[in-house]
Amino acid sequence: MANLINFTKKYLKGRMKDILNLKTFSKSDIIRLLELEGEEMKELFAASSEVRSEYCGNKVYFRGLIEYSNSCRKSCLYCGIRCANPYFTRYTLSDDEVMESANFALRENFGSLVIQSGENNSKAFILKIERLVRKIKQMSDGKLGITLSLGEQTEDTYKRWFDAGAHRYLLRIEASDPSLYKRLHPDDGIHNYADRIRALELLKKTGYQLGTGVMIGLPFQNTGHLADDLLFMKNFDIDMCGMGPYVEHRHTPLYSLSNQLPALNERINLSFKMIALLRLMMKDINIASTTALQAIDPEGRTFALKIGANILMPNITPSMYRDQYNLYENKPGTDESPADSKESLMKIVLDAGCEPVFDEWGDSKHYKNRNEHV
Ligand code: SAH
Repeated sequence: MANLINFTKKYLKGRMKDILNLKTFSKSDIIRLLELEGEEMKELFAASSEVRSEYCGNKVYFRGLIEYSNSCRKSCLYCGIRCANPYFTRYTLSDDEVMESANFALRENFGSLVIQSGENNSKAFILKIERLVRKIKQMSDGKLGITLSLGEQTEDTYKRWFDAGAHRYLLRIEASDPSLYKRLHPDDGIHNYADRIRALELLKKTGYQLGTGVMIGLPFQNTGHLADDLLFMKNFDIDMCGMGPYVEHRHTPLYSLSNQLPALNERINLSFKMIALLRLMMKDINIASTTALQAIDPEGRTFALKIGANILMPNITPSMYRDQYNLYENKPGTDESPADSKESLMKIVLDAGCEPVFDEWGDSKHYKNRNEHV
């Protein structure tokens, strides 16, 4: 009997190596890998960590995250800053506050910053962002790389911001399956899957390094959906990814489904497996170790860097606003200033066995490679 068990273990291990060595993964391979546990899961992490070192080195780049405004025209059913949530105060940073944050990023030697916000497509908003991007470029002598994460906009707006100096854009598809997307968003004409896809296409056409991502552990979501999410990112040929666990927020409609969710430790393990698999599937893209990982596990961001992520996004929003950009509950960094001290960031990176890189943009290698090959 013991022999039979040993034989089976050995066979499975061999089979596992076969799968990990495949050039491309089918949906069923991915599902099988997403369901790994214990020693086999560790093997997956060892493989993704190796690929990261080989294709991206051990370098970790920083993007200071400025949460520009929690006003939002959308009402996504999972998100704490949805416009239909009346239980908190809305804010928008002044130009001076944004410039102070940008100056902080420069002083801390973060090579880049991200400006993220609830969605707003007013003329005033569009012009203000354009002006701020130009000002940050000027103030930093072009040193700070700028990523935007400002939702769905028109082609003209994307172009305007690109011409002003932004060169990366993050727009999560949130869930790549159209029917799952529909269950997570109100059916009111402004939350359309097709519009989201179109926005991603426009961003690529404009010339941005394109980032997308999904939430992991959502209600109604299974490993088949997650496998499709990974294949979606591969097929869309993205340059960057930010994805992390779904964390519920009590003032959102999806909160009523909390009892149907996978346990928090399952959501975080799934998130790690998603990061590891994406690294195997898209070897030279930038993958962020996201804040939501830290919301569930204090070591979450360290572990993500260990197994394949290569980007950290310290929150540099002025501290008085930080607890108001409340996407989900227990969001880290809402009670300290600054949220991530340089020491704590260094510790995260060094504990992961990686090398922190300051004063460099750390662009996606994939973007360079795909443009060289056209
Ligand atoms: N308006 C911008 C930025 C959205 S907020 C845009 O549309 O791109 C940034 C991200 O937070 C979202 O893309 C979403 O994936 C994530 N998020 C929102 N609510 C969340 C929750 N409850 N749990 C985990 N992540 C959440």
